[in-house]
Amino acid sequence: MENEKYLFVVSGPSGVGKDTVISFLRGAHPEIGKTVSATTRAPREGEAEGVNYFYRTEDEFRRMLERDEIVESNYYSGHYYGTLRSEVDRLLAQNTPVVLNIDIHGAANIKRLYPGATTIFLLPPSWEVLESRLRGRGSNETAEEIQKRLDTAREELSHAGEFDGQVVNHVVEDCAAELYGIMARRAGLAEEH
Ligand code: 5GP
Repeated sequence: MENEKYLFVVSGPSGVGKDTVISFLRGAHPEIGKTVSATTRAPREGEAEGVNYFYRTEDEFRRMLERDEIVESNYYSGHYYGTLRSEVDRLLAQNTPVVLNIDIHGAANIKRLYPGATTIFLLPPSWEVLESRLRGRGSNETAEEIQKRLDTAREELSHAGEFDGQVVNHVVEDCAAELYGIMARRAGLAEEH
């Protein structure tokens, strides 16, 4: 699909600062579209169907997965979460740039379903920086739990070369600007000055 050039996946190891970079990017560029995910968890107070999430039963969620109606998903704290293909398609059909913040495994699935999507891997400035961020996260964790997190991050980092682009997160603002530059060139958006 021609409009796949508007689809971007941002991935990277945990601790690299993905959420911070993406929320900065969205703040600077409110025109970037946000997809509403599906989940099997119950709505929290104040949440509404189709606004925060689309709330589905596990059976419904599984059926949607089988039909490729969910383009990436995760199991978290006893519930399923996933990005709906219909949401991505709705935004792409309007020529709205879409940024999906997903783990490295989900990124491969997006590429399978949307070969024209651009996948970007966020890298830490160095292994030492990532390690200290990960060690600093959970103060009441055992050495074993911390080691497991470091091993996962190392494994995740080894996939960087499989992505279309890599951006180093030295400074959030610069990293977000570099990301936007990639998006602007690929999708023909207005460049920043
Ligand atoms: P919450 O239940 O607090 O709204 O979300 C729990 C977790 O699920 C968060 O870490 C959130 O980022 C993640 N999450 C929400 N939607 C999706 C999704 O569509 N796909 C994936 N992989 N994770 C999601």
